[in-house]
Amino acid sequence: MIVVFKKDATLTEIEALKATLVEKGFHIHESQGENHYLIGLVGDTSVIDPGNLRAHRFVEKVVYVQEPYKKANRRFNPDDLVIDVMGHKIGGGYFSVIAGPCSVEGENQVTEIAKSVKASGAGFLRGGAFKPRTSPYSFQGMGSEGLELLLKAKQVSGLPIVTEIMSIGQLEKYHDIIDVVQIGARNMQNFDLLKEAGKIRKPVLLKRGMSATIQELLMSAEYILAGGNEQVILCERGIRSFEKETRNLLDLSAIPVLKSKTHLPVIVDPSHSTGLWTLVEPMSKAAVAAGADGLMIEVHNDPDNALCDGDQSVKPEKFEAIMRIIEQYVKMENKILN
Ligand code: PEP
Ligand code: MN
Repeated sequence: MIVVFKKDATLTEIEALKATLVEKGFHIHESQGENHYLIGLVGDTSVIDPGNLRAHRFVEKVVYVQEPYKKANRRFNPDDLVIDVMGHKIGGGYFSVIAGPCSVEGENQVTEIAKSVKASGAGFLRGGAFKPRTSPYSFQGMGSEGLELLLKAKQVSGLPIVTEIMSIGQLEKYHDIIDVVQIGARNMQNFDLLKEAGKIRKPVLLKRGMSATIQELLMSAEYILAGGNEQVILCERGIRSFEKETRNLLDLSAIPVLKSKTHLPVIVDPSHSTGLWTLVEPMSKAAVAAGADGLMIEVHNDPDNALCDGDQSVKPEKFEAIMRIIEQYVKMENKILN
């Protein structure tokens, strides 16, 4: 971190600030020229609030040299993290597809979909029991009953389950029975929830907030990692834009950017990012080509009558076709589909 002083900064002011920083354990490198006076801080600057430095009358600006996230930083974790759930791996050359309905709607629905996505090569079953809906009058999910049905579908298909929790209470109550805990876009910056997710020892699938920057996503992951839970999967699921043709704008460039900045696996959700089932196949191909470690795809056996997100859900037959294509793309990337 570099602190640049204003031209009229007095030596007394600068010396006083330097003294407090040294007291906090930082080493200081100084650079003084005809037109500038700045200091470089050496040490763990992630603990410093740059706002406190900028608050000084005599400070011109504060510049980060390193990113404010440490545990999520590839600089400190050069090797890709591989997340292994019941033998299905994501990251570090392993590619996996998470598939299933937006919401669990009944036993038959979820078990039938589970069996078919498994047969097509999915590695994980997704299904929402607790649904974050924009309208309080929309279907809110089956709740704990939905979780029970997911567990049945897990038994029938052998697939580990990925499901969203929305509150600390739900996390405490259900994390034991969930294989991968999903924290959705709307809760990406629910910091109390992230702190609790840091205490569990289950992989967390953290979705990018719809208006969150890449750095904010990484800082949210940092909350979970800082709590001691090292198993975080990041998910690009589209961001808000002015475009109305698609539900969100899939930020494909976020994949290589994230992969360069963090060792955490990065997956893509082509369903929520586009909102259209017809775009799931092309965006899945693009995601693999851009370096994603996995996909999360909504599959429904009767999209016309789905209780949530039918317009972006592919039918099992279409999912099968997508998987056969994705298989080729994954091979081209020298990754293993599992
Ligand atoms: C979901 O995956 O069911 C979901 C609600 O996604 P998002 O949080 O990305 O909107
Ligand atoms: Mn959905």
